[in-house]
Amino acid sequence: MFHLIVNVCLSVAPLECAPVLLPAGDAATQQSCMSQARRIADDWLQDRPQLRGEGPRCVDNADLAAAPLTELAPGVHVFQGDPVQMEQSPDGRIANLGVIEGRDSVAVIDAGVSRAQGQAMYVAIRRMTDKPISHLVLTHMHPDHVLGAQVMAEAGATIVAHHAMANALQYRAGTYLENLQRLFPPAEWIATAVALPDLGVTDADSIDLGDRRVDLRAWPSAHTDNDLTALDVATGTFFTGDLVFRDLTPVVDGSLSGWLSWLQGEPAGQARLIVPGHGEPTADWALAHRPQQDFLKALAEATRARIAEGIPMSEAVPLIAKDLETFAPSWNSFDMTVARDATAAYKELEWE
Ligand SMILES: [Zn+2]
Repeated sequence: MFHLIVNVCLSVAPLECAPVLLPAGDAATQQSCMSQARRIADDWLQDRPQLRGEGPRCVDNADLAAAPLTELAPGVHVFQGDPVQMEQSPDGRIANLGVIEGRDSVAVIDAGVSRAQGQAMYVAIRRMTDKPISHLVLTHMHPDHVLGAQVMAEAGATIVAHHAMANALQYRAGTYLENLQRLFPPAEWIATAVALPDLGVTDADSIDLGDRRVDLRAWPSAHTDNDLTALDVATGTFFTGDLVFRDLTPVVDGSLSGWLSWLQGEPAGQARLIVPGHGEPTADWALAHRPQQDFLKALAEATRARIAEGIPMSEAVPLIAKDLETFAPSWNSFDMTVARDATAAYKELEWE
């Protein structure tokens, strides 16, 4: 397969450029790709005055960089992110992403942090199959999981998420994009924009890929207020999104008590493989969730104790962080996350 590539530069900084892949231009031969390249590129650029495009070209799939995917179960492929915080990553590609290939179509679980990462996923998928990408499931609003979504949307995917996700993402989109631009060089974020969900799941729903079904479940507030899990029924692979962190310090951005209740509720059921939002996939649910549960319980206990002592938040946060110091060696990016967690926990638990 040939892909249409446009070298896109910032209108305000014409030397800052990156290759943008436009899925609408996919074609079986170079010639058929080139015959429509200019029209498709012009249409795409027309809505984006902040960008300028040069010379559309058509490139064989084999000559483009693909995200490294590992097949963990039949038809289930995973990109494993580097389990550190964005600030400690060269490109923000820290989240785990998934691809489930059915008989008729493909579902993608999370889209990555940027258009560049979404494109690398798209190239990897197209290296495996030319089946339609029918669905992109977004597990929650956080930028490392959602900002590559536009690539899959342009490829025809319906974007599915928790019903509360669209509003939550829209509200934070400006900040997420600014952070991306602050943290990484332009080649990593050029042409990155938010794509909002087409469908919101209120409780449970499922996706049909022909010979296999993916069950979706929208949960009450936990890691965020818009967490959604996806279970590939055929292989028992459970994509938890950031409801499960391994290796990377868990981030509380929803409800600490809600998250602890979720963990107690045996949410993995009969799942045979757990793919966390960050860190190593594992077949063992206890291994997947216990370290995180221990950390979150300790966070709640330390916070409640400081609140009970009547210490105001600004003074309590560093004390809570110190109370949790024993966890630091087991969790990446601990220092930059624990104060934020303590703040979130204090604000939530002081009203108990
Ligand atoms: Zn998250």
